[in-house]
Amino acid sequence: MSAGRPARAERFMPRTRPVVPPIHQSVTYFLDDLAYKDVQEGGLDEVWYGRFRNPTVDVAAEEVRDAESAEAAFMTSSGMGAIATTLLTLLRRGDRVVAARQVYGDTRDLLVRDLPTWGFDVEQVDATDLDAWRAAVAAGPTRVVYVETLANPQLDLADLPAIAGIAHEAGAVLVVDNTFATPYNVQPLALGADVVVHSATKFLNGHSDAIAGVVAGPAELVREVQRRVITLGTCLDPHAAYLVWRGLQTFELRMSRSNETARSLAAALSARDDVVGVRHPSLPDYERAEVAQRVLRRDGDALRAGAMVSFTVDGGDERALRVMRRLEIACEATSLGGVETLVSTPFNSSHFSLTPDERRAARIDDGMIRVSCGVEPSDLLIDDFNRALDQER
Ligand SMILES: *Cc1c(COP(=O)(O)O)cnc(C)c1O
Repeated sequence: MSAGRPARAERFMPRTRPVVPPIHQSVTYFLDDLAYKDVQEGGLDEVWYGRFRNPTVDVAAEEVRDAESAEAAFMTSSGMGAIATTLLTLLRRGDRVVAARQVYGDTRDLLVRDLPTWGFDVEQVDATDLDAWRAAVAAGPTRVVYVETLANPQLDLADLPAIAGIAHEAGAVLVVDNTFATPYNVQPLALGADVVVHSATKFLNGHSDAIAGVVAGPAELVREVQRRVITLGTCLDPHAAYLVWRGLQTFELRMSRSNETARSLAAALSARDDVVGVRHPSLPDYERAEVAQRVLRRDGDALRAGAMVSFTVDGGDERALRVMRRLEIACEATSLGGVETLVSTPFNSSHFSLTPDERRAARIDDGMIRVSCGVEPSDLLIDDFNRALDQER
């Protein structure tokens, strides 16, 4: 370090500005003529300490805000950071949450294991059963209704306009995890949701190289979430925020490509006689076709049906594992939303803690494989699946 104060990089570019936003790694800032009193009064808008606000984190949040057509957005340390911070912002002692049963595993743990020990009541319902939502919300004063746009791994679309109606009639706030669908395919806020949460680790970042989360919604609510990010410490690191920002520069390109690949792969798999079921909203036999018409965004007449496909092989979980291990392009790994196609079997990954009966009740078939489509040439990817299935007939 040279003598005296740290160097100011801006000195070396007196007449130009960078095209790409710099990574602002500084935790603290010269206040120059400002007093701490001034910045504290400026409150959440001032940049003066890294846990409160960081410009690199803000540029990433702005991209998500626009993608969700939200008034505001704020990044968090992870998807779980976004979910936990949002719930702890909304809930008060004794409050009740009605949540979908089909939720991400760690969200389930938060809902059924952690929240009750902190004094919140949680009831879970089948996300596709509107009568169950109505009954659960009517059973007691409900503060939060929680659902995922596309359930993992069944790929059931939530009827967001109907669930929003049920929540609002009861004076509850609808929180939607839009990780699987992404705002390219579904914009929950436009369909009645009050807040959207994401694991930005997945499609928003898109490169499987950063853990991050985001909360999007009305400015006042997002500001309250930001207050909890400060006190709970669920802030995002600027390096990770930069990676999310960079990934978001190709978000629409990636999603458009991965959506098309998912559509082609779903059609190709459906044509096979050793595949007993394929789930993708583009298919004519998609069970939630009517909901898809109302919830999915479209290009002309074509629905944007998403980049996730689930299919079930004849021969159960044993054959599913063997098929998966024959794949040479698609990668067998947990997570989703990267440029590489990722496959997993729910029975030994996301849903390993359920008994076979519980899995069947949740419509997770024996032999199910979940695919998150990447951006590889789709003909090569489809050949990869066909070859692996042929080899394990
Ligand atoms: C991955 C995921 C999460 C958790 O996100 P992290 O970034 O890993 O904390 C939450 N919800 C869904 C639907 C996810 O897929």
